[in-house]
Amino acid sequence: MRKYNLPIFIPHRGCPHDCAFCSQRKITGIDTEVTPNQVRDMIKSFLDTVAQENSSVEVAFFGGSFTGLETATQEAFLKAAAEFFPKIDGIRLSTRPDYIDEEIISLLKRYGVTTVELGVQSSNDEVLRLNSRGHDFQSVIKASNLIKNAGITVGHQMMLGMYGSTPQKDMQTVSDIISQKPACVRIYPVVTIKGTTLEELYNSGKYTPYTVEQAAMLAKDAVKLFNKAGIEVIRVGLHSSEELESDGNIVAGPYHPAFGELVSSLIYRDIIEQTFDASTQNIKELMFFCDASDVSKAVGHKGMNKKYFYEKYGIKLTVKGEKTK
Ligand code: SF4
Repeated sequence: MRKYNLPIFIPHRGCPHDCAFCSQRKITGIDTEVTPNQVRDMIKSFLDTVAQENSSVEVAFFGGSFTGLETATQEAFLKAAAEFFPKIDGIRLSTRPDYIDEEIISLLKRYGVTTVELGVQSSNDEVLRLNSRGHDFQSVIKASNLIKNAGITVGHQMMLGMYGSTPQKDMQTVSDIISQKPACVRIYPVVTIKGTTLEELYNSGKYTPYTVEQAAMLAKDAVKLFNKAGIEVIRVGLHSSEELESDGNIVAGPYHPAFGELVSSLIYRDIIEQTFDASTQNIKELMFFCDASDVSKAVGHKGMNKKYFYEKYGIKLTVKGEKTK
């Protein structure tokens, strides 16, 4: 079964908040309003391009706080998508934890919403306050339970390196999210974007972002813990877009167009490193076998793992791919 996801971005609509790190239009890369009829057209043309057999298609409303929209607007978008059941298999949306209540849940159920992703960002209430999130972690717990009890899948989105956070607080967020048992998570390192409060904090020296290396190491530890807990990690790192990457938009922070790949490389680095004991084994060459689809991760982004093992242990690493899946 091939899974397809059709993302439809609804930038900043419905959101009266101004979180320190957020410049919603730049993150989604789209600066225009979307209408329900355009949603219909997008779904229609998407369905024309995918083979219906053996495929599962999910329409995903992302980019803002969907359930913060006027009820009539939410209904119009949901109706536009729901008209395509059973050609589509699900509707997914992202929202804030404090924009979920019984009434909203029954609206989402009515139109067949299958997954709701909550912008958790941090489990530390002080960090949430410093970033003007306008909700606490208790509202994440409450919203997650409401969504799950309604039979809707819940996902959590978290950030690494928010203003006021530390690596310890970020890893605590990972543990607190695991205790809520969402089905899936997304991990975003905080990037300082032009025009945000975070930019002011950065310029005044009050905020020091993580380096790419620090953020990637933390994300690696987070992914390993989520994997161990059976929680699917569906995204690590921001989606790159021309607008986001255009001159001067990213002021500071750990932005890397292949951030997810870096993290996968680090995970493989750990796996390989655990296969030998450098203190007792005098190894000069190491042949590592993995699934053919994982060779580039084991070799590492731009050969970073090969370089690492050579520089640290004098080991020449060779990776061989086999069909195991
Ligand atoms: S709630 Fe979401 S969309 Fe609104 S300002 Fe905060 S991060 Fe941006």
